Amino acid sequence: MFHASGMCTFRCWTPTVSDTTALTNIGSLVTNDPSVGNGPLGQITDAVVVIDDGLITWVGPASQFDAADTVIDLEGRALLPGFVDSHAHPVFAGDRAPEFAARMAGQAYSAGGIRSTVAHTRAASDDDLRAGIDRLAGEFLRSGITTFEAKSGYGLTIDDEARALRIAREATNETTYLGAHVVPAEFADDPDGYVALVTGAMLDACAPYARWIDVFCDRGAFDADQAREILRAGMERGLLPRIHANQLQHGDGIRVAVEVDAASADHCTYASDEDLELLAGSNTVATLLPGAEFSTRSPYPDARRMIDAGVVVAIATDCNPGSSYTTSMPFCIAVAVRDMHLTPDEAVWSATAGGARALRRDDIGRIAPGARADLVSLNAPSHIHLAYRPGVDLIDRVWRSPIAPKVGP
Ligand SMILES: [Zn+2]
Repeated sequence: MFHASGMCTFRCWTPTVSDTTALTNIGSLVTNDPSVGNGPLGQITDAVVVIDDGLITWVGPASQFDAADTVIDLEGRALLPGFVDSHAHPVFAGDRAPEFAARMAGQAYSAGGIRSTVAHTRAASDDDLRAGIDRLAGEFLRSGITTFEAKSGYGLTIDDEARALRIAREATNETTYLGAHVVPAEFADDPDGYVALVTGAMLDACAPYARWIDVFCDRGAFDADQAREILRAGMERGLLPRIHANQLQHGDGIRVAVEVDAASADHCTYASDEDLELLAGSNTVATLLPGAEFSTRSPYPDARRMIDAGVVVAIATDCNPGSSYTTSMPFCIAVAVRDMHLTPDEAVWSATAGGARALRRDDIGRIAPGARADLVSLNAPSHIHLAYRPGVDLIDRVWRSPIAPKVGP
């Protein structure tokens, strides 16, 4: 068990001898398992959840609960699956507060700002980068995030990209090689040369530490042909594809995502009806990043239109020092409800089960027998309060299973 500042207590099971723990007196339980509860969230009132050695073993109404070795009374609080943050950039040095202030004073956001973080990150020591991701991992946990993805992309040299992934891998199994974040300044006159590096020696150095490959396919970054080439090279090395698509303008990013069966197309701020049709007929999730539009004062994607078209939607923080320096999933949920037109139920589903889908995981994002005991309780009677009480710290306790997740490579 470890403690954070403030009122919250965070618990972590130690896998020792088998003993069962029951969380009882749950006011409203979100299971994301419609077969055991009401609606798409599979809600159960007055519920009990039983855990054994970091896994959920029983879920049901209190009236059917038998017994457990240890009982924790949640006193009517809501219990949810831990949030799954499927899109984050937590390995970097420095911050870009002045750039944010200038943007709020009217300057437009561009992908070029990434290069300033690249300079700080290259100059940082391993210990500085490790301390940075550890600090953000603590913030993620305090906001109820029990699984987070971590991208490289602020090194953009063979050694700096491999170093970022090696350090990220110490904090999460969901690591993503994003050598194709932007073309670094030293390759400004030779973007094809940089693509050759990203798909060649840099990929060789990074693949051992990554599960995913990603590319920023947008204005000022990489075009659709380059994105295809980069993702396919990673896939040949056993990495799974995901893509930054259509954040800054309409383009072919979503089309490329569906073509390569990417787990997720992220941002999708600009999506045509045809894009939505493609997504709806695919296994590719649209991951929306409310913090990015909020922090760049950009138009929000219309999640209502996506869901009505049959697209599976996830919500993630996009935590990064340029365009979305937040680690708060409750904040993202509130903005997604207010400005992207998701209902509170849909936003909570997208931040849990949707995130799990975007990482192609079925052991997280739901509360059901066999799933990891990654859980968050709220100082509120229901999950709706996450959007209804914006900016209020409602996180009561967070449980994260100590069992290593089964994800490759
Ligand atoms: Zn991103």
